[in-house]
Amino acid sequence: MSSRRNVLAGKPRGLLMVVSSPSGAGKTTLCTRLRAEYPSLGFSVSYTTRPPRPGETDGVEYNFVDQPRFQEMIARDDFAEYAMVHGNMYGTAAQRVADAIEDGRDLLFDIDYQGGRQLRRKFPDDVVLVFILPPSLKELERRLRGRGTDSNEVIEGRVRVAREELRHYDEYDYLVMNDELDRAYDALRAIYLAQVHACVRQTPTAEQVLSGQEQLL
Ligand code: ADP
Ligand code: 5GP
Repeated sequence: MSSRRNVLAGKPRGLLMVVSSPSGAGKTTLCTRLRAEYPSLGFSVSYTTRPPRPGETDGVEYNFVDQPRFQEMIARDDFAEYAMVHGNMYGTAAQRVADAIEDGRDLLFDIDYQGGRQLRRKFPDDVVLVFILPPSLKELERRLRGRGTDSNEVIEGRVRVAREELRHYDEYDYLVMNDELDRAYDALRAIYLAQVHACVRQTPTAEQVLSGQEQLL
């Protein structure tokens, strides 16, 4: 939606905030904290063909679907973006993104660089891309083992893929090193707040103030 239309609709423009990282770098931890502090920040629940991990609930962390259903959704053009990650398919429902932009709501995306790239191409004025860096690959592996949700084989695969994912850091707007959690969180929050207050998103707010003043004159 153009900023002009948003001005006419009188709503601040919604932000699409993408947070990516190699698995285990801490993006779920950081994003959960951001959503707890800012409940108006919605979360884009992706579709995936990956089986649920213990403790995951359908419709909460992901919408879990089988391969034929995912292919059907691709054929119907239901995805704003989709990609294969670690051998499974993941995708973002286009309708959810369109609704958020239309309603001026902010949405958080935990998606990989392939997805971030596709969203940026489709919504260049609305997307901000943040990449969470692990202190090292060794520490990444330590965190994956400490999390205790994946088998040895899966962990080794994720560390191998992490090298490839890290190479894409330069496609992002912001890089946040997650060495010390509180410091990394402060940086993520600062990025979110700066983006929300960008002129392009707050034009309707300024116009409202201006039109109120005009009524007083
Ligand atoms: P991701 O969502 O990127 O796969 P998680 O948020 O699940 O990563 O974090 C992986 C593991 O690392 C979790 O057990 C989490 O508690 C831990 N962790 C996250 N951030 C830090 C940090 N700054 N220092 C130490 N451990 C961390
Ligand atoms: P996990 O299986 O550990 O939850 O996620 C694996 C990877 O898939 C993570 O890097 C995550 O960011 C990415 N991912 C999750 N949902 C989507 C999505 O809808 N699209 C894309 N492109 N990547 C996703």
